[in-house]
Amino acid sequence: MSYPIERIRADFPILAREVNGQPLVYLDSAASAQKPDCVIDSESDFYRHGYAAVHRGIHTLSAEATSRMENIRAQAGRFINAASAEEIIFVKGSTEGINLVAASYGRHFFSAGDNLIITEMEHHANIVPWQMLAEEKQLQLRVIPLLADGTLDLARLPALIDSRTRLLAITEVSNVLGTVNPVREIIAQARAAAGEQFVVLVDGAQAVMHHRVDVQALDCDFYVFSGHKIYGPSGIGILYGKKALLDAMPPWEGGGSMIRTVSLTEGTTFTDAPWRFEAGSPNTAGMMGLGAAMDYLDKLGLDAIQAYESQLMVYALDALAKVPDIILYGPDHRAGVIAFNLGKHHAFDVGSFLDQYGIAIRTGHHCAMPLMAFYGVPSMCRAALALYTTHEDIDRLVSGLTRVQRLLG
Ligand code: PMP
Repeated sequence: MSYPIERIRADFPILAREVNGQPLVYLDSAASAQKPDCVIDSESDFYRHGYAAVHRGIHTLSAEATSRMENIRAQAGRFINAASAEEIIFVKGSTEGINLVAASYGRHFFSAGDNLIITEMEHHANIVPWQMLAEEKQLQLRVIPLLADGTLDLARLPALIDSRTRLLAITEVSNVLGTVNPVREIIAQARAAAGEQFVVLVDGAQAVMHHRVDVQALDCDFYVFSGHKIYGPSGIGILYGKKALLDAMPPWEGGGSMIRTVSLTEGTTFTDAPWRFEAGSPNTAGMMGLGAAMDYLDKLGLDAIQAYESQLMVYALDALAKVPDIILYGPDHRAGVIAFNLGKHHAFDVGSFLDQYGIAIRTGHHCAMPLMAFYGVPSMCRAALALYTTHEDIDRLVSGLTRVQRLLG
């Protein structure tokens, strides 16, 4: 395979670090990915040479910064194949994107007695905003259940949908099990069964870095992802929404940059979407970094990344299955993450031992407590594969786990 893994790793300065006297094995990229030099440099270059407030000034620096911001909006649109840049809203991350849809679209368009559908594998970010809205507006929350193999019980979907179903909010890839949900088929099936005013939000936080995403082909109404999980900066992310929906949605936060006119006697009129949803001074340096991260992914090519990561996933699942007492969760076909437990040992203990060997994994409930409840465990360990993960990283994890299993018994 011609995937230039050594050159790629050299782009990520932190990967050269030692942790606890050992070369770092970073397997926590699903929580947050490391950053290549181009992302780090794009932020610092902006602060050194291009920084100014956007929108407000007529001076050159401000105009330049504004045009870079709008170019990155268009780039984000191309990245997920939106029909236009005006369908792209800058947010802090996936969590804020989902909350925006709940607070604007949900509050405005849902009414008492309507129902919303989520799934049992959702991240809390795609559960809690809907629970809060359901309580506020007296909506019913319905759940597509999990099957033991870590896929969704889609046979149950038709019975959950009726003429009062207003929303399906579903993750494209599970942040715990790595399950790749057939969202395109699910959306088509749901649309055929649902009545008027039915919308679909897809949580792409664990998807966009593993394969190409085409929001038009998916035919979702909203799509969210976070910059920090796609090798970009923290505090910046994208909400995609179909233009006609955004145009009909009221603002959710008020302030500067989202108004047309403000009068103390006549009230306020708002500007157009997507700017109407971006009150206040935005995270412009984060946008520069996000633009650099999307460039980086485009240059490597998401097809090449997907091919590399899929064979690494097969290798990792096979190698991990040989660790004594390991319990692996989730389906064979998956993207990005491998959740497991070592016998009855608490994930926290396993993770702490691995850290001593320089191996970083995530432990805990992974912001998916309903999924933990389904499997009847309080926590899981999770190893995440990224575009810079190597076969040696997996070998180190396997030998680390074998050592922990011998120590803990
Ligand atoms: N959804 C999924 C599937 C996630 O994995 C995460 C992050 N762990 C989120 C939503 C929330 O993303 P953020 O914290 O970047 O807002």
